[in-house]
Amino acid sequence: MMEERLILLKKMLLESDYLVILKGIGVSMECGCTSYRRSKYAYEIEEKYGRSPEEIFSAGFYNTRVREFFEFYKNDLISSLGEINDGLKTLKKLEDMGVLKMIITRDIFSLAHRAGCKNVIELHGSVYHNECPHCRRKYPLEYIRDSKGVPRCENCGTTIRPQIVLAGEMVNNALSTKAADEVSKADTLLLLGCDMSSVLAESFLRYFTGKRVILIHNREHYADSKADLVIHGKSMDILAQLAL
Ligand SMILES: [Zn+2]
Repeated sequence: MMEERLILLKKMLLESDYLVILKGIGVSMECGCTSYRRSKYAYEIEEKYGRSPEEIFSAGFYNTRVREFFEFYKNDLISSLGEINDGLKTLKKLEDMGVLKMIITRDIFSLAHRAGCKNVIELHGSVYHNECPHCRRKYPLEYIRDSKGVPRCENCGTTIRPQIVLAGEMVNNALSTKAADEVSKADTLLLLGCDMSSVLAESFLRYFTGKRVILIHNREHYADSKADLVIHGKSMDILAQLAL
């Protein structure tokens, strides 16, 4: 049964003219990135800081308690950036083959970029992009990680802002528009590591007018049957098994 679905998946992917992927939280978790959705993690953070990770990872908290924010950020967020695995490398192959046109994701750890993919819309930004809001000087992740306390701009002393979307902030409008446009151009849409109830699907599925929706996720959901092909399992393992 699984074997048949893998063959069908490969066929659908390779037949598509314009494949767009909505890459969800499932991928990030499989790659070992920090995630609030792991209850054990959320509990540890609450124990350590007396606040939930959602509370700390917000614009309000950043603006009022920047020192604590960066303590959390450095010790408990960018401490697990995730590993680039064979599943992610399959995405790079699909892009090189001209099949995969765009990956749309809320991942802030740049997994797809790090796997070599070029066409990625990172709706929530990336921890690899950091900028001084005053003089616009850019800084690498290492600068933030290795700074003592709050990271400050070498030019002007202003607190450097990681270019990521915090809770309570809007996604860049141009990026959302571009993502919607890409979905509207797709003939095949792959929901990878997310399902029909995910924020990504809810935001962009409505723009899809193509032929096929494929869903690969490790959890079953009642709306799964809306997809043309559903494979339940670890998305990265499944992609790696395609052996492209
Ligand atoms: Zn500056």
